[in-house]
Amino acid sequence: MSRKRTTRGSGFCPHCGNDSLLECVLAEPWVETTLMNYGGKTEEGPFVWMMSLVRCHTCKGILLYKSNYQGYSEAKFSMADLVWPHSGDLGWPVPENICRIYSKALLIKLRSPDAFAVQIRRALEALCKDRGYSGSLKPMLEALAKAGEIPDTLAKVADILRLVGNEGAHETGAEVSQFQADEIDTFFRALVEYVYIAPHRIGLFEMSRRKALNAID
Ligand SMILES: [Zn+2]
Repeated sequence: MSRKRTTRGSGFCPHCGNDSLLECVLAEPWVETTLMNYGGKTEEGPFVWMMSLVRCHTCKGILLYKSNYQGYSEAKFSMADLVWPHSGDLGWPVPENICRIYSKALLIKLRSPDAFAVQIRRALEALCKDRGYSGSLKPMLEALAKAGEIPDTLAKVADILRLVGNEGAHETGAEVSQFQADEIDTFFRALVEYVYIAPHRIGLFEMSRRKALNAID
């Protein structure tokens, strides 16, 4: 089933940083196999999403949204998940204060890459504190790496974020370019993925494997 739609909704556009009218160009259902977990029981099954290709009225940029098919309404893009470009919603299991700092940082990424780098440094501090470290950022990051919570490559990534965040905070520091801001964004998300999201996904995968193994016992 393919449906062309022109109805407008509204939402935040990460391309231009505006709250803008959004025009739905195309909406298509998409079936994904997901793992549901209720009351200790796990069940794999199909879940139907509505994928919507949307155009921002302000910058004409294209966005891709994913929403629950049953609750789909073209007037409520603000309630749907923005698949591309990413919305800044890190979501569970990432701690709420890290999500909040990061989503605020993303609002200023386009207009002020320097300020964005400073906010990402703050988010990095919040990540270290959440993992039980205290003090200034450099020793906290060293302790994080030493404890094996992040591998060497990500320790380097974290140190880059720390240094660029420092520069961004000082008038005399080199300016952060748009390309660098994009890379900082990718680096920070890689850290969050490693520290919080990958362990959660491993837990889900193991739940699914246990069910499969029990079935052949
Ligand atoms: Zn836009």
